[in-house]
Amino acid sequence: MIEFRSVSHAFDDVPVLEDVSLSIDAGEFVLLAGANGSGKTTLLRHSNGLLEPDAGEVLVDGTPVAEDLIAARSSVGMVFQHPRDQFVAATVGADVAFGPENLGLDRAEIDRRVAAALEAVNMAGHEDERIDALSGGEQSRVAIAGALAMEPTHLVLDEPFTGLDEPARRSVLERLASLSADGTGVLLATHDLRDVCELADRVIAMHDGRVAVDGPPADALDELDGLEVRVPDTTRC
Ligand code: ADP
Repeated sequence: MIEFRSVSHAFDDVPVLEDVSLSIDAGEFVLLAGANGSGKTTLLRHSNGLLEPDAGEVLVDGTPVAEDLIAARSSVGMVFQHPRDQFVAATVGADVAFGPENLGLDRAEIDRRVAAALEAVNMAGHEDERIDALSGGEQSRVAIAGALAMEPTHLVLDEPFTGLDEPARRSVLERLASLSADGTGVLLATHDLRDVCELADRVIAMHDGRVAVDGPPADALDELDGLEVRVPDTTRC
């Protein structure tokens, strides 16, 4: 479980998160919606200690993130908006192995995790390929595999469909659906709920650094007017 307790954060004295309290349960599929600049990325970056709150606190599975950063980063796998920002190695296998290597795991366990993570994103057998030779969709799936290799309880994704064409988008969506079905919690930030809202248990919408809407998709969709979130053409997911 990820808990944000009265979290506030400012950049250069400009408030970006104001008194945000939320609990994300293990296994939940949550969409974090909101206009560009509403505070989604800033909130996500608090979930594994990339940012610290100015006030309030964040807990992962009951432990304050600030007390055990390694535990938080193992439990909460983060996938950035631009996969290229998170790759650290030239080849798929080396990149996905990087996190488990840093945990000091033995080689057999690292290999097992890399194989399982690549399998989960439908990239098994691509270990030796160069990341820069992959398509955008494949790079996105490798970025997700890198997070999964830490065996997180939650996967946190920031606008994961940016720059993807429709087949790639579909493929990432299918992988997320399957991970969610297997029990991984998903927290996904997006300004566009089309396609993805059918997977969600819950939609949280941010507006000016505050939680403006929080509920099941069927209810939340009716409350998003004026929040600059793209919604499906039908009024239902
Ligand atoms: P979203 O993900 O919803 O687009 P962000 O959390 O990225 O929103 O940004 C919220 C606000 O915080 C924006 O006004 C943005 O310009 C500002 N902001 C984000 N990161 C920084 C930073 N590192 N320094 C200064 N301002 C920032």
